[in-house]
Amino acid sequence: MVASTLTQTQTTTSVEPPPEESKQQPSESNTYPTPTPTPTTLTTKPKKVRRIIRRKGGARKGGGGGGSSSRRKGGGGGGRDDDSGIDPVLFEKVMTESNLPSAYSFEITKSVQRINQLLQLKVETHKQTQKMTEKEQAQATQDGTEAVIGTMSTVNVSVHIALQMPEGLLLYATVLSDVLQRLVMATNTKTVIEHHIQHQLLSVSVLGDVTYGACCVDDLGARTLGCDLLIHYGHSCLVPIQHTVIPCLYVFVEITIDVPHLVECFHQTILQLLKQQLQQQGTKKHKPHVYLLGTIQFRHALMEARRLLRNEDTYNYQVSIPQAKPLSPGEVLGCTSPVLTSTPPSSSTSTKNKRNKNKISSTNTGGDDDDVVFIDTNDDTSNTAVATAVVLFIADGRFHLESTMISNPHIDKFYRYDPYPKSLTEESYDHLKMKSIRYEAITKARTQMKRMSVKATINNNNDNNITSSSSRSCCCVFGIILGTLGRQGNPALLTKIQTQLSTRQNVRSFVMLASEITPSKLALFANKVQVWVQIACPRLSVDWGHHLSGNQAIPVLNPYELFVCLNIVPWRGSIPNIPENGSNNNNDSNGIGNNTNENEDKSYPMDYYSQDGGPWSNYGDTENKNRKYTALRT
Ligand code: SF4
Repeated sequence: MVASTLTQTQTTTSVEPPPEESKQQPSESNTYPTPTPTPTTLTTKPKKVRRIIRRKGGARKGGGGGGSSSRRKGGGGGGRDDDSGIDPVLFEKVMTESNLPSAYSFEITKSVQRINQLLQLKVETHKQTQKMTEKEQAQATQDGTEAVIGTMSTVNVSVHIALQMPEGLLLYATVLSDVLQRLVMATNTKTVIEHHIQHQLLSVSVLGDVTYGACCVDDLGARTLGCDLLIHYGHSCLVPIQHTVIPCLYVFVEITIDVPHLVECFHQTILQLLKQQLQQQGTKKHKPHVYLLGTIQFRHALMEARRLLRNEDTYNYQVSIPQAKPLSPGEVLGCTSPVLTSTPPSSSTSTKNKRNKNKISSTNTGGDDDDVVFIDTNDDTSNTAVATAVVLFIADGRFHLESTMISNPHIDKFYRYDPYPKSLTEESYDHLKMKSIRYEAITKARTQMKRMSVKATINNNNDNNITSSSSRSCCCVFGIILGTLGRQGNPALLTKIQTQLSTRQNVRSFVMLASEITPSKLALFANKVQVWVQIACPRLSVDWGHHLSGNQAIPVLNPYELFVCLNIVPWRGSIPNIPENGSNNNNDSNGIGNNTNENEDKSYPMDYYSQDGGPWSNYGDTENKNRKYTALRT
């Protein structure tokens, strides 16, 4: 993920150690850090044979792990399905030798099953071809002519897959490749013998390009390599599998963490907080409502934490797991986070009553019905609410949490639990600074447009027979960067932006394709571009926009900021005190100018992949929602 440059204050919360240290500590200490894996060798004798624990009914197939404190059995990278066709002893042997971290679920059996499906499909296709050629041969013999018959040894029935993962997981790529090859070979011995297959059944390519997020899924690159399947690790399925140009399997790589420790840390911290409030204000406060959120790796840890925190005999908190659909419940992206209410429904409110209230736009909670969070816009109890809300976030960095903080400036307390050092910290974000910087960038872009507009008017007045070249020099040039990293760049959004810019007077634009946006790249266009717009990762502008164009100080806007700049949508939140050259009160022919703050109560949007996102988002309108990639299928 992209690192933030907006340094925010961070205070460590003093945490009492849990009463009992769990035995299930992940040995990792950073983003996907694990013990160095050793290459698998067939001759290595396993040190100890692991017990195979069969999953009970309802458990996820393919070795997906729960987020409870109990470790996933069956070897690092996921347990084995009973009906997977993989020999359990061999599976344990391969997994043990692979030395993959046992806390990580790489969904090995699911992957093997998917590969085997493709393999079977190829074998079936080949059988059909062979039957046809045999018929042709028979016909040719009858006719006295010659026919070319394909033999199995000359026909390729191997499957080619691509593995794509964030950098923190790349160290496992070759090990995963080895594990998959061994298990695929072992589960297809019959096919190999039957069809005299002498070549490798599975070939694996590792995609080494940078992978920031779920938006970077590189099915197009994998197809170019001639792959039959792409396995994307570490992110949720932002690009639906029916839209990818080759079959795609998403492996979330869920991580088993010490949930009881997390819950106890949080509880101790809240007790301290309540004690402080009692001392300072003399009034006892109620326990806050807890919103549980995190990155996709901790999806099941969130569910387990909710169960523990709700336990009436121990912690007894009101807890909910919000959801920004189509993301999973509790899942947050760096650019997409649910909008929460700071005054959640009180415990006395019945679920039925809650249903009658207005549901928060774009958010929902997963799981039980009573988790659904509603907001009542006419609720006059907002100032007297007995319970305030806090966010408990599970992640090993701040990037995703910042997305939740940006979209929820009204929530006072954010706690982040980092499962590797097992620390709970209170986090904050400098909203004012971020918004000032971003609004200043928008103001600069408007100023550029106005400056060019004035220049054009003067030129027009001076010379009625103005040449096209001098006319062009009076245009404000927008450079539109379409990100080519995976699926970051959205062509539908590009068209929308181009259309909008084309309707503005004295504005010209061009499109630049780029996998990465760097200051040195933008510097190559010095004096040629007045405003950059990037359709890649919106956080690039939020976190780095003010650095990207170096000394030239050319604004680098994301789609939302461009729409504000063009006065298509209003700025969300109060308007920072930025002096704007030219009028800020009147619309001119370009639609620049009057910037109302009618959306003052709304936060800076982090809804780029939300199904209810604004017109700047990836699903912002019907055209975008329905965009299909199937046309690109081979
Ligand atoms: S666009 Fe969103 S999902 Fe993609 S890298 Fe940026 S923050 Fe992450």
